[in-house]
Amino acid sequence: MLLIYNPFGSFSQDIMIFKNFSNLIYAVSTISDANMSFKTGPKEEVLANRQRFAQKIGIEPNFISVHQVHGNKVLVVSNNDLGKSEKEADAIITKEPNIFLLIGSADCLAISFSDPKNKTIGLSHAGWRGLDKKIIKQTIFKMKQHFKTDPRDLIIEISPSIGPCHYGNLSLKNKKSWEKYFSKDADNSKGLDLWQAAKDQLTKEGVPDKNIANLKVCTFDNKNYFSNRRSNLTKEPDSRFATILGVK
Ligand SMILES: [Zn+2]
Repeated sequence: MLLIYNPFGSFSQDIMIFKNFSNLIYAVSTISDANMSFKTGPKEEVLANRQRFAQKIGIEPNFISVHQVHGNKVLVVSNNDLGKSEKEADAIITKEPNIFLLIGSADCLAISFSDPKNKTIGLSHAGWRGLDKKIIKQTIFKMKQHFKTDPRDLIIEISPSIGPCHYGNLSLKNKKSWEKYFSKDADNSKGLDLWQAAKDQLTKEGVPDKNIANLKVCTFDNKNYFSNRRSNLTKEPDSRFATILGVK
């Protein structure tokens, strides 16, 4: 079964790279599915929201999420982790079918990794801190180590996240590795391209350019998704939508 629950608003599923891989289950929740993270809402409510979302897209609510801290720790998970409390990490990888990795985000990048040869998957949470701490490199390293993944086989889908149109962070301007991701007119509200930074880190690890898909749906712009930066301005609730990834 292939399920890609319409994640990207008006964008067609036809241009999503994961649609070519029938062993994957990939979905992105929207604001209408409500808050998906224990960080930004009461536990019972989040569990109910996740349950409802699972029902809506026709899967068991076998979600495994982590306590995301903008770090670079990668957790290898299995069935044994179902129902346990969240461990601290910012990436999850698994070779087990029918469990669903879940990352909550609202501007940060949720980066989905699929290794079709070994039928294994990974899901990383990456804002500027995670990118700076090389969460992408760590995720790929762990997939190599545990599943013998060859980065040249990896297929990547990047969920809605904040674009350079609405993301700025001048505190990074003095860091050499970030210099090239600033536009000339950058300030604290625009001009820093996390999408390009993520892409460069992926290709540096050996993922082919053609295997990386990012529809570049900006969470600040697209009101189907929670956006931390937008919520700071508009006083909308500061909640998280979910990216989920599973393998059959
Ligand atoms: Zn934008």
